[in-house]
Amino acid sequence: METSHRAEIEDSVRSRSVNRCPQCNEVPQETDGTLTCACKGKTWLYVQGQKGTEVEEKYLADNGCCYAEDVRGDKYYVASWGAIVHLYPGNRWDCDAAPKTCATLEEYFAWVRSVGE
Ligand SMILES: [Zn+2]
Repeated sequence: METSHRAEIEDSVRSRSVNRCPQCNEVPQETDGTLTCACKGKTWLYVQGQKGTEVEEKYLADNGCCYAEDVRGDKYYVASWGAIVHLYPGNRWDCDAAPKTCATLEEYFAWVRSVGE
């Protein structure tokens, strides 16, 4: 069971989406409902997270992440260690707390286990 589960995850592996401005290298932050970076006058589209597939849901739950939704309808997963994991359209994911070196969710969870929760 564990083997087929892993195989399915690897088939649809999500890549890390680090939403950083290519000009100023800042992660856009929300101010008054608008996403902005350090570049003057530049605004960013707010991309909402999405619910994972059934397999991903199971994988995230197995790794201590619970599905949540906020008042704006943003969807994300809250990890038992307090991190927030977003799944984005286009087979991408991100977590602010994950080191930049983690390209996949699997690498991130392995990192979490290696540092201890
Ligand atoms: Zn910028």
